[in-house]
Amino acid sequence: MTPPDTLIRRQAFVGGLWCDALDGRRLAITDPADGSEICEVAHLSREDAKRAIGCAAEALPAWRARPAAERAAFLRRWADLVLESIEPLAKLLTREQGKPLAEARAEIAQAAAFLGWFAEEARRVYGDLIPAPRADRRTLVLKQPVGVVAAITPWNFPAAMVARKVAPALAAGCTLVLKPAPQTPLSALALAVLAEAAGLPPGVLNIIPGEAEPIGNALIDSHAVRKLTFTGSTAVGRQLLARSAATLKRVSLELGGNAPFIVFADADLDAAVEGAIESKFRNSGQTCVCANRLLVEDSIYDAFSARLAARAKALVVAPGLAPGSQQGPLIDQSAVDKVEALIADAVDKGARVLTGGGRHVLGGTFFQPTVLTEATADMQLCQAEIFGPVAPLYRFHTENEAVALADATPFGLASYVYSSDLGRALRVGEALQCGMVGINVGAMSTETAPFGGVKDSGFGREGSMYGIDEYLDLKYLSLDLSAR
Ligand code: NAP
Repeated sequence: MTPPDTLIRRQAFVGGLWCDALDGRRLAITDPADGSEICEVAHLSREDAKRAIGCAAEALPAWRARPAAERAAFLRRWADLVLESIEPLAKLLTREQGKPLAEARAEIAQAAAFLGWFAEEARRVYGDLIPAPRADRRTLVLKQPVGVVAAITPWNFPAAMVARKVAPALAAGCTLVLKPAPQTPLSALALAVLAEAAGLPPGVLNIIPGEAEPIGNALIDSHAVRKLTFTGSTAVGRQLLARSAATLKRVSLELGGNAPFIVFADADLDAAVEGAIESKFRNSGQTCVCANRLLVEDSIYDAFSARLAARAKALVVAPGLAPGSQQGPLIDQSAVDKVEALIADAVDKGARVLTGGGRHVLGGTFFQPTVLTEATADMQLCQAEIFGPVAPLYRFHTENEAVALADATPFGLASYVYSSDLGRALRVGEALQCGMVGINVGAMSTETAPFGGVKDSGFGREGSMYGIDEYLDLKYLSLDLSAR
C-alpha cells in the first residue's frame, strides 16, 4: 500500500513532471468539515494550460500507436494500485470533499472499477467489413481515437468523475488534459501519482488545477484539442458547448438533474423509504442523480412521509472521518445559504417541515437531514437542483399525473419508480423523459451501465460498452481490389 503522505501532491502534473504554475500562484485546499487548510496546490493559468495541451499533443502519436493490449495492461495495473491504496485515497477524498469515509471508500472502488472496465474495453474496439456495392471494392470501417481530450470535472465525486473520463479516453488511445474542480484537486493528483507508478508515459495524462475560465477557454479554443468532456452544471455546460462551436469539437456533457422519485401505493414501503434515503442523502444530497422531488401517491403519502422522516432524523451527521458518520458537511457556505433559502421559500408557500429544516448544531456547513411535506410546483425547490439534504414530498393521484409531474422539468438525468406492479413500473420507466431509471432501486451508478442524460442534463454516455465510443471516430476506407 502507498503511504498516505506520498499520495498528496501540491503541484500540477504536466508532461510527466510535477510542476508549479508559471506565475507561481497557489490555491489553498480546505477541509469542509472544519474549514482548516489541508495544503496549497499550484493554481495554473491559461499559459500553463497551453503547455499541457502541447504535451498531450506530443504524446498522442506514440500512445495511440501502442497495441490495445498494452494500454489495457497499463489501465489494469493502475486499477490494482488504486485498490491497494483504497484507504489513504478514501481518507484524502473525505478530507477535501467532506463525504463519510464509507462513501469515499465506495467512490474509490468505483474509480478503480472504471479503470478495470475500460482496460477490458480497450481490447474490444472492433471495426467492420461491410459488403461493398461492387465486386472489386471492399468497404472497411475503423475506429480511431479522436485525439487530445480536454476533461473538466466537478467537486462532488473528485475521483470517480476523473476515472470515468480518463479510463475510456486512454483505452481508446487518446491523451488528455484534465482540470479538476478547485475545491477537490487532491484526489485527481493522487490518482496521477498511481498512474505514474503504473507506467504512464509522459504527457499522456496531464492534470492542471487552476483558474476555470482562462483554462477552460484555452482548452476549448485549441484546435489541437478534438474533444471536450465536461461534468458540471447545466449553466456552465451550455457556455462551454457554445464556445466549442468555433473549433467544432466533439462534446459530451454530463450536467445537472432534477430527479423524480415516484412511489406508487402498491410499492414495498420499507424498500421505498430505504431507496429514498440512499438516493436523497448520499453525499449530503450533493449528487446529480439525487432524488430532488419525491412524488408519492395520495393514499400512502402520510405513512411514507412519517417513515421517511423517522429514518432521516436517525441519520448520523458528523465529520466524514468520524466513526459511524452517515452525513458529512456541505461543500461550502454558499451551498448552505442556497439550501436554507430554498427551504424558506417552500415554507413560505405552505410546505411543512417534518424533520430538520436548518443548520446543524455542529455548525460550519453541516445541515440537518430535512423532510418537507405539501411541496408544490410553485416552490423554487421544484425547479432548482437542491444539492443538499432536503427531501420535498409532492402528492399525486394517478399514474398519468405522476409521469406528467415527473417530466415537468427541463432536466432529464435520473428517475426512480417504486411499485410492485412490474408492468406499471416498466410502462412508467419507458415513458419518463430521462437517461436512467431506477426501478425499485435507489442507487444505480455502475461501470457496466451507460450513465447520462437527455434534455438539459446533457448528452453522451459514460461507462458501459457504449462509453468508449465518445472517444472514437469512425473512418471508412474504400478499397479498389483491381487497382495496381
Ligand atoms: P460547475 O460550477 O459547473 O463546475 C464544474 C467544473 O467546471 C468545475 O471544475 C468548475 O471550476 C469548471 N468551470 C466553471 N466555469 C467554467 C468555465 N467557464 N470554463 C471551464 N471550466 C469551468 O459545477 P459544480 O458546482 O462544480 O458541480 C455540481 C454540478 O455538477 C451539479 O449541477 C451536478 O448535477 C453536476 N454533476 C453532474 C453529473 C452527471 O454525471 N450528470 C455528475 C456530477 C455532477 P470552478 O469551480 O473553478 O468554476
